[in-house]
Amino acid sequence: MINILDKTFVPFISRDTIENRIAEMAALISKDYENSCPLFVVVLNGAFLFASELVKKIPLSCEITFIRLSSYVQTESTGTVRQIIGMEETMTGRDVIIIEDIVDTGLTMTQLLKQIEVLAPKSIEIATLLHKPEALKTPLEMRYVGFEIENKFVVGYGLDYDGIGRNLDSLYVLA
Ligand code: 5GP
Repeated sequence: MINILDKTFVPFISRDTIENRIAEMAALISKDYENSCPLFVVVLNGAFLFASELVKKIPLSCEITFIRLSSYVQTESTGTVRQIIGMEETMTGRDVIIIEDIVDTGLTMTQLLKQIEVLAPKSIEIATLLHKPEALKTPLEMRYVGFEIENKFVVGYGLDYDGIGRNLDSLYVLA
C-alpha cells in the first residue's frame, strides 16, 4: 500500500507481469512490421516508460517521435479539441504506431487519430498499455492492448496522480 498526496493506492500489476506482457506485444509488432520501417509516435507524458520498454524489444529499423497534447482548447465549431504539440516527422506514406499509456473514454485517442489521418499515413495502429473497456465512449479499434482493466484509477509505470507516481515501477490502483 502507498500514499500519494491525499489518496491510498494498493498494488495492482507487478513489474514482472507488465514487462512480460510488453515483451509479447513487442514480438507481435516485430512480426507485423517485419517488412516496414514504422514510425512510433509516443504520447507524452504517460507513455514514456511503456514506450521505452516496448521499443527496446523491437529489433526493427524504426523511427520514434514524441508528441504532447495541449490542454483542452474550446472552439465554437468543434467543441473541445486538444492540439498536437511537437509533431515533426512526416507521417505521409508511413506505417504509424501510436504508443499511449491508457485509453479510458477513448475521446483523446479518437481526436489524435483524426489529426494524424489528415496527414495521410499508409497505416495507423494503436499500442496502449492499458484499456478500460467499460469506460469507452466511442468505438475504437486497438490492435495492441497490454491489459484490459476495470474502470478504476491507476498510477505508476508512467501514469500519475496529480503529477506524482510516474516513476513507480509497477501499477497501483486507488484503494
Ligand atoms: P480518455 O480520453 O481515453 O478518456 O483519456 C485518456 C487519458 O486520461 C490518458 O492518457 C490519461 O492521461 C488519463 N487517464 C485515464 N484514466 C486514467 C487512470 O486510471 N490513471 C491515470 N493516471 N490517468 C488516466
